[in-house]
Amino acid sequence: MIEKIAVLGAGQMGSGIAHVAALAGYQVELVDISTAQLEKATISIDGNFERQLKKNLITALEREKAKARIVYSDKIRDSAVQLVIEAVSENITLKQQVLRHITADINADCIFATNTSSISITQLAAVTDRPEKVVGLHFMNPVPVMQLVEVIRGLATSDATFEAMEKLVSKLNKTMVMSKDYPGFIVNRILMPMINEAMYALYEGVATVEDIDIAMKLGTNQPMGPLALADLIGLDTCLSIMQVLHHGFSDSKYRPCPLLINYVNAGWLGRKNGKGFYSYT
Ligand code: NAD
Repeated sequence: MIEKIAVLGAGQMGSGIAHVAALAGYQVELVDISTAQLEKATISIDGNFERQLKKNLITALEREKAKARIVYSDKIRDSAVQLVIEAVSENITLKQQVLRHITADINADCIFATNTSSISITQLAAVTDRPEKVVGLHFMNPVPVMQLVEVIRGLATSDATFEAMEKLVSKLNKTMVMSKDYPGFIVNRILMPMINEAMYALYEGVATVEDIDIAMKLGTNQPMGPLALADLIGLDTCLSIMQVLHHGFSDSKYRPCPLLINYVNAGWLGRKNGKGFYSYT
């Protein structure tokens, strides 16, 4: 039975996952190599608990208990965690390195879940000593708000691992869908080409940033426009996902928009560092 979870990567997704897991009663170790990022995560998680309290979604006691369940750390200190959820940056080499590195330190029964948006679970599993215990657990952003979790089975993922994730998602009070292990799974295979196309519309001068977003919000009833959503996801993450789709399907329809590549090269990553298609101060 899973009681203790380590979340690797304290960015926007890792913080959100730690938040919902702690509220659901799990002991959580939130791990990042960057001390600055751990400090940012503490502030962001506390702020999100506060928001939920103000909206009467949680009680003060629930908040205090959940906060007390989260430990912030620069490495996994409890080798007896039963689940590691990897949420480091969307880069296959980095993810493989991280999984390879922790393999030696963590209890052989521990399940490795990855929050990757698009990378092959099978390929990540192959670098570990326990491919049957590796599974995709794809949360949506922002995690405390969004209802969906995609569970992705790699070629070797066992029924027991899958069933453990089914139970976990249900305990987190979220809704699960199951996807096979193909690039982008369900959500990003459909969503990301639309976002990329919105960037092409901007690149080709079809309309302004604002008009593209208003058109898609009011014309297709989306809660936010595709360019604002790209800024929320992170433009580096969007680019990595498009590259995985492009490479994985060998199909030119997934080629990343040159504007997206330029923005990432410029260090404009969206909300997380203050500038993307919009400015955030
Ligand atoms: P982010 O850039 O906000 O955070 C990534 C974190 O990983 C950073 O804090 C970084 O310091 C940390 N990190 C890097 N190397 C590390 C290491 N070796 N050990 C520990 N920590 C390390 O990124 P994010 O948006 O939180 O995305 C994380 C993962 O979640 C990616 O795989 C991404 O595709 C996926 N995801 C993102 C979204 C989204 O909307 N942003 C949605 C679903 C899934």
